[in-house]
Amino acid sequence: MKRVYFILLLAVAATTAATAGKPIQTNDVWRHPGAERTNCRRNVCIPDIEGYRTLKCDFHVHTCFTDAQVYPAGRVNEAWNDGLDVIAITDHFEIRKNKGMETADMNLPYEIAAARGREIGMLVISGGEITRHKPFGHINALFLKDANRFPRDRTPENEQAALDEAFAQEAYIFWNHPGWPDDSCTLYPMHERLLREGKIHGVEIFNSKEHYPRVLQWYEQMGFSMLANSDIHYMSGQQYPDGVLRPMTLVFAREYTVESVREALFAGRLVALYDNTLAGAEKYIRALVGESLAVRVIDARKGTIELCNKSDIEYSIRYGDYMYPVAIYGHQTVRLNIPKGTRVTFVNCVLGYEKYFETELW
Ligand SMILES: [Zn+2]
Ligand SMILES: [Zn+2]
Repeated sequence: MKRVYFILLLAVAATTAATAGKPIQTNDVWRHPGAERTNCRRNVCIPDIEGYRTLKCDFHVHTCFTDAQVYPAGRVNEAWNDGLDVIAITDHFEIRKNKGMETADMNLPYEIAAARGREIGMLVISGGEITRHKPFGHINALFLKDANRFPRDRTPENEQAALDEAFAQEAYIFWNHPGWPDDSCTLYPMHERLLREGKIHGVEIFNSKEHYPRVLQWYEQMGFSMLANSDIHYMSGQQYPDGVLRPMTLVFAREYTVESVREALFAGRLVALYDNTLAGAEKYIRALVGESLAVRVIDARKGTIELCNKSDIEYSIRYGDYMYPVAIYGHQTVRLNIPKGTRVTFVNCVLGYEKYFETELW
C-alpha cells in the first residue's frame, strides 16, 4: 500500500512539474521561480567539434516501472535540470519490484518519458536492460521497436533469446558495469567474441560512481566504444548534488534528433566523460581539448602563456619536470610558463590503459 502511495506521489510530482512553467502572478499569489529548481537548467558547457553538435547523453536510466524510484516523466525533468540533452530509458526487462507495476506494458515507461520529452524539447530513446547473473551480466539495448518482445523471466536459458531479440530489433548494444556486483572485471569469452564480431558495440567504462580501468585494456585490443552513464535508480539531486556533473556519454551528432544520435553511436563518434575524465578515441579528445582551451602567448621568450578554459571540464596537465598535475578549472584562465614545443600530458584525457593524450600547446 505504501509503495502504491509513493508511486502515486511521484506521478503527482511529475504532473506538477509539467505545469510548473505557467507563471502565476495575481494580486493574491506571486510566484518566485528562483525559489525552486524545477525550471532551472544547469548550463553544461562542452564545445561542439568538427562541425558536429556535442550532445550530453545518459544512456542508462531506470524508472519506477522497474526497481527505481522516479516516474519516467520525472527522469526527463531531472536530466533537463542536470543539463543533459538525451536520455535512454533502460528499465530491466525482468525486474518489476514496485507494486502495481508487475504486469505493466514494457514500452510504457519510454512512452511516458518521450511524451514529457516532447513537451520540454528533450530527446528520449527507447531501451532496456537484459539482466542476468555473470558471466552474461547486464546488457543494454537502445532504439528498441518493442520492449514487450524481450523475455520477462530471468533464467540463463533465455539469455541468448534476449540477445537475439536485441539483434532482431537492430539495437545499439553495450555491456554494462563489467565490474559489478563482485568488484572484479573479467572479459568472458562470450563478451570478447561479441565485441570482436561488432555485435556488442560498446562497454561502460564508468557506471554510477564506479570506474573500470580494465575496460581500457580491452578497448586497446578491440577498439569498441566506451560509455559513461549514471544507471540512476534514486533521485538525481541526491546522487549528483549541485556542482557535481552527472557521468555522461558525449555524442557528436549531425543534428539534435534520435536518428542522428543513432547514426553517431553506430559510427563510434562518442567520448565518455566522468568526474572530469574524458575517455575515448584520440581524434575526438584532441578536438574537444582544442575547442575547450584557448592559448594566448604573453611572452614568447619566457614561454609565458595564458590558458583559457571555455568548458565545464576541469583539465589536468603535466609537463616538463613538474611532478604534479596543474588544474585548468572550467571557465578560468591560468597563466603558466610552458616554453614553445613542450609536450604536455593531459592526465584527465585517457586514450588507453595508462595512456594519456599528449600535445604541444603552442
Ligand atoms: Zn545493471
Ligand atoms: Zn541498470
